[in-house]
Amino acid sequence: MRKVWNFLKYTLYFLLAVIVVFLIYCYIPPKQYDISPAAYPWKKGLSETEIDSTARALLAQMSLDEKLDQLHGSSTFLSFAKGGMRWFVLGLGREIGYSGANERLHIPPLAAADGPRGLNVNTATCFPVSMLRGATWDRALERRVGEAMGEESRAYGVNYNLGGCINLLRHPGWGRAQESYGEDSYLLGEMGVPFAQGIQSQNVMACIKHFAANSVENTRNKINVTMDERTLREVYLPHFKKCVDGGAASIMSAYNQVNGAYCGQDKYLLTDILRNEWGFKGYVSSDWILGIYDAEKAANAGMDVEMPIGWRYADLPKLIREGKVSQQTIDEMVLRVLRMKLFYITRTDPKPYPKDLIANAAHCNLAREVAEKGIVLLKNETHLLPLDATTLKSIAIIGPLVTAENTGDHASSYVKPPYIVTLLDGIKAAAGPNVQILTDDGKDPQKAAALAAKADVAILAVGYNFSDEGENLSYNKEFDPNKIWGTGGDRNSLELKSEEQALVKAVAAANKKTVVTLISGSAVLMETWRPEVSAILMAFYPGMEGGNAVANVLFGKVNPSGKLPFSIAKQASDYPFFNGFTDTITYGYYHGYTLFDKEAIEPAFAFGFGMSYTTFQYDHLQLQNVPLTTGDTLQVAVNVTNTGARAGEEVVQAYIGFDNARVDRPKKLLRGFEKILLAPGETKTVVLRIPVSDLAWYNPAAKQWEVEKVQHSVLVGGSTRTGDLLRGVFLVE
Ligand code: BGC
Repeated sequence: MRKVWNFLKYTLYFLLAVIVVFLIYCYIPPKQYDISPAAYPWKKGLSETEIDSTARALLAQMSLDEKLDQLHGSSTFLSFAKGGMRWFVLGLGREIGYSGANERLHIPPLAAADGPRGLNVNTATCFPVSMLRGATWDRALERRVGEAMGEESRAYGVNYNLGGCINLLRHPGWGRAQESYGEDSYLLGEMGVPFAQGIQSQNVMACIKHFAANSVENTRNKINVTMDERTLREVYLPHFKKCVDGGAASIMSAYNQVNGAYCGQDKYLLTDILRNEWGFKGYVSSDWILGIYDAEKAANAGMDVEMPIGWRYADLPKLIREGKVSQQTIDEMVLRVLRMKLFYITRTDPKPYPKDLIANAAHCNLAREVAEKGIVLLKNETHLLPLDATTLKSIAIIGPLVTAENTGDHASSYVKPPYIVTLLDGIKAAAGPNVQILTDDGKDPQKAAALAAKADVAILAVGYNFSDEGENLSYNKEFDPNKIWGTGGDRNSLELKSEEQALVKAVAAANKKTVVTLISGSAVLMETWRPEVSAILMAFYPGMEGGNAVANVLFGKVNPSGKLPFSIAKQASDYPFFNGFTDTITYGYYHGYTLFDKEAIEPAFAFGFGMSYTTFQYDHLQLQNVPLTTGDTLQVAVNVTNTGARAGEEVVQAYIGFDNARVDRPKKLLRGFEKILLAPGETKTVVLRIPVSDLAWYNPAAKQWEVEKVQHSVLVGGSTRTGDLLRGVFLVE
């Protein structure tokens, strides 16, 4: 008995000692690296040729171990545990993932941080999610977001930003929809490029992800996405090509398979297309953990860096010895990483990066400005909005999300801002002291309706949060949909939760002047309650300043100008097949507005749609440079007039129609847009330039892009609704 007691006692002591040692280890801050160009002895402003020769000279001095060290993240399972402990339990902040520092040779590490809506290292500005930013259709604004994230990256010592998610929203059930810019490849590329360039302007390498076809979340680690060559080339890849052409330093492969090959070890994607066809000069990293399975396949396919640890790439020394991965392949992988590191370490910084750049007033204001320009007004009957704070006596603010600090996903894109303005905070402040604010959490629809009946206006906030949609961190959700725990994943439904639908109906029945503010990463079906409410605002996850932005739109301080970056259907069956639990899926050539056009399905709200408090008139469409030959650029000029009484911004959109195509083509495709500001009564002539090469289809038999020499049409207006579009025709000769 005594022996057993002693055994238990010493085991307990031992365990306590291990815990104490681990805690002490966790309190010791991890090694920090300086990543600023000024800290490295390299001559600044090296040319491309000089960078190449310097990289080769470095390579010649490296041992095999030093080379392999460049090809994987430096974390270990223990440092992971330490990172988790420091972040979640001890509240000491999140670590930057360093890899491949070589102090002997003055090679900087890759110092990585996510993510799409801000830096996920400690406190940072939490911007609205990318989907809201897609709804701004404002390239210059997205460039400023990229610059701000670049500045915060540098202030934290990060030189590798993983925030450039440009996966295509094929279906609104996709859990990570919020991290990307929408359903249209053209829009995705047009927004991804300024984001990446903004980041890179601060000497931070931008990573564009997830290459490719990553639009199902729960089964992302195993799903095989099949599609034909035209679908791959025309729908799922052009936005990546645009970012490569725009100079993105790095590409992250997707977890999923495309046509039977894991993207992280797919030579067709990583070498044949990305490098040989597109001429990508940067490096490719895997998605983090389980991004590759087989080092031989991955290395030979063109995967440069396994993140965040050298797990499969621990096999590389053996594979080299066995001749399965050649020394030359390794050298090329290392060179690709070195060249990019050298490029960024030999630039001169445009400015210093003190810590007080992080979440400073300018960045927080930018977060609000972006939200104001991306919120989409979907319905506004009897001109209920904007509200007039000088005449209103009372407002009922109702719903589970009114007081929620709800900025989106809680996984890799999670951002911890210094403060969050909730909808209630924002509306209260904008309404001012003379308007009575009544609030209710909406749990009991009848109680909420009684409150709404007492107020001049009822404002509801309904929708989702991080547990309804986001990155899938719940292991069980993948294997057993009935045993759900954890956060995120693909959505279970495209509707509001049934209790929220009941709430909206009850409140709308009690007060004719009901405004619904929708919080979500992508489309929400709303046919069961849409006719009953007067106004609907799509607010997405509007970021740390979201409450102020929503309030400014509600009270008319800001005239809404967001346009939907996706189509909202009337019913789920109008979208293509989607199942977050499937292991295989076929992506068809049509989705979103191209599918709705083809099947003549009327959406509830069309792609590109969004209302304003003013009205715009389009006329005098002129096509210049016509007829065109294949190397030309079509110039589309149109007059847009603000016919209302308020200044407002409008997104002028140009679609190419393919009515005379001999091959199967969508009815129309977005090929140009510009956001303009018009004073009341002002007319501007907007000129959109569309290179004829943008009209091409991919001919799989000939393995090339071809433009048909037929008559095309161009459709110009404020959304994809046919009635909204002016039409002109032109010939390609
Ligand atoms: C996500 C990536 C992210 C990475 C590192 C992965 O789980 O899929 O998008 O960049 O984690 O945070």
